[in-house]
Formats: sequence, C-alpha cells, structure tokens
Amino acid sequence: MAAFDDIAFDNHERVVFCHDAETGLKAIIAIHSTALGPAAGGTRLWSYDSDDDALHDVLRLSQGMSYKNAMAGLKFGGGKAVMIRTPDFKPSDALFERYAGFIEQLNGDYVTAEDVGMKVEYMDMIARKTKYVAGVSQQEGKAGGDPSPKTSYGIFKGIEAAVQFKLGHDTVKDLTIAVQGVGNVGYHLCSFLKKAGAKLLVADIDEARVNRVVDEFGATAVELDELLSQEVDVVAPCALGAILNEWSIPALNASIIAGGANNQLKTPEDGQRLHDAGILYAPDYVINGGGIINVASEYYGDLTDDETWDRIAEIGPRLTGIFEESISSDRPTNVVADEQARSIIAAA
Ligand code: NAD
Repeated sequence: MAAFDDIAFDNHERVVFCHDAETGLKAIIAIHSTALGPAAGGTRLWSYDSDDDALHDVLRLSQGMSYKNAMAGLKFGGGKAVMIRTPDFKPSDALFERYAGFIEQLNGDYVTAEDVGMKVEYMDMIARKTKYVAGVSQQEGKAGGDPSPKTSYGIFKGIEAAVQFKLGHDTVKDLTIAVQGVGNVGYHLCSFLKKAGAKLLVADIDEARVNRVVDEFGATAVELDELLSQEVDVVAPCALGAILNEWSIPALNASIIAGGANNQLKTPEDGQRLHDAGILYAPDYVINGGGIINVASEYYGDLTDDETWDRIAEIGPRLTGIFEESISSDRPTNVVADEQARSIIAAA
C-alpha cells in the first residue's frame, strides 16, 4: 500500500520512518497538521501484522489528534507515532534515546507523550535526548506524569453530561455502566464511577486486570464477547478501536456510548447507525481529551495541576453542546464534532 493512497492520509504534512539497526528501533511519526501549533500526540508501542497496518494506524490516529486537539481548545496541531513491537523487541535506554533523536530532528514540529504500551519510565528516557516530550515523571503541583487518570476524569465528566442529556439524571448514581477494557484508562474510570455510586460491569482480555476492579470496586465480570450487548445505561469502550460497527451496533442494549478508546467507530457511517438507533454517542476524541489537556499544561507550563483538572471538566459542557446540535440538526454527533473541529483548524 502506498501512503498517499491510504484513506487516512488526508493531507498529512509529513510522515517520518525511523529505523536504527543497532537497537532494533522501528517507528513511524505522522504529522497531520501544524496549523494550530506543534503536532502533538502520543507514541503507541504495539505489535502489528504488517508495516502497512502500522502505517494505517499511525495516519488514522494522527488525523484524530488534529481534531482532538482542536476540540480541546489547545495550541497543538495533530500528530502521532507508532513504535513497532517486533518479536525480538527489547526496551532499552539506547532504543528510546535513539527514538528521541528522531523527534529532536523534527525541531519541535512533533511533541510526543504516552499512549498504549508506553510508560512514564520510557518517557523519561526519551526526555534525556529531546525537549519535545511530555508525560515524564510528574513534579510537585505541576501537570505531568501518567495522563490516564486525567483522561478518565474527562470521560467521567462526559458520561455525567451524557446521562443528564439523554436520561435526565444529575449523576451516575445507581446507573449501570459497562466498561470494556480496564487498563490504565478503564481502571481509573471505574474508580470515578464507583465513587459516584454507579454499578459496574467489566471485561478485559487480561484476567488480572479484571480481578483488580472486581476486588477494588465491586465490579461484576462479564464474558468478553457479551459485554457490549449487556442491558445497561452506558457502554464505555476503553480498549481498542473499531468496536462500533455494522455487527455490534444492532446488538447494543445501551442508551449511551461514552468511553475513552480512540477510533471507536469502524467507519463514519457507524455514527449514523447509532444516531438512527437513538443511541447517544459521545465522540471519542472529544470525551477522551483529558490526557492531551494534561500534556499541553505540562508542555507549555501555563496551568497548575488544579487548573488542569478544572480545564478537563469543561469536556462535559463541550459534549452537551455537540449533543444539542446533533438533535437540532438531526445529524450524528460524530459528524457535528468533525465539522466543529475542521472549522477550528480552518480558522487557524
Ligand atoms: P491500556 O493498554 O492500559 O488498557 C487497554 C486495556 O484493554 C488492557 O487492559 C487490555 O488488556 C484491554 N483489551 C485489549 N483488547 C481487549 C478486548 N478485545 N476486550 C477487552 N479488553 C481488551 O491502554 P489505556 O492507556 O488504558 O488506553 C485505552 C484506550 O484509551 C486506547 O484506545 C487509547 O488509545 C485510549 N486513550 C488513552 C489515553 C491515556 O491517557 N492513556 C488517552 C486518550 C485515549
């Protein structure tokens, strides 16, 4: 597959292939847009069936970051990177430092942070060789560190906005919420939801992670392939993408889909399917913007940690605006959000 023909290419400004034979580093950095500022988005460490799959993934994610950063009101364009976990992949200081060297060569056009598979420890290694990085170890009172608790807080505020809009409930108390994937984001989301009095159903391919939320939050474990079709108020997808599609949508028994996974809709038409079925969908890149808002605060150093939490809480009213426009114009929420994001980028 040629990069320019990929459906997700969408006028990317630059795509950089990074390779270092000595450390085994293979990574792709995609810069979709720098219209609003440096292209910011995390590095995903993942194993792919092919290099084409890795390229498609990074292009899709990078385009999504342009929209996410625009909708979060940040001075960031959109970019993303994938680091390919080959069968003999070995995380090492040298590998992450070499990767940092490639980021440094981009002179600040790309700012990286954590995504799936990365850890604060790896971000600290990257930070030794480039300043264009966030998600490094947090300093007292400042934004930084693992962004997932902040991502989860934004999703929690988004779920509150959705249940208020769709069900007329002021809180999630006594509502049932199915969380798919209880890794970093799903775990912290369960914690916020439990504190607010919600009942939790959970599934994850990692049994230890399921047991952790069952033990700590009294969640009920559900079979992997049965979670999405549970009769619940909210389904919160917090694993991987493309899980809302022509097969899964007809089986849904929920009023609301609101979770942290990126690229939940397999195709944009799946947003129309949800709209037609009367299921309220919180566009993923709007509801999961808490992590990148934290990254922006850390990178620019313009907000304290407390101010950052407050900024993230604005995700709730932002979603309500999208829900209202979706109803008044009878268009799916993903279409409304995309249009708003594109107009912010075009205005820049
Ligand atoms: P993670 O790797 O910590 O957690 C993902 C979890 O999903 C893991 O526990 C994994 O075992 C589980 N999983 C994988 N496939 C599954 C399946 N088929 N069914 C059920 N569970 C499955 O990653 P994370 O940081 O929690 O991120 C989760 C999602 O949220 C990703 O799509 C990520 O891109 C997105 N996201 C994360 C952040 C962040 O701050 N970490 C920010 C924005 C978006």
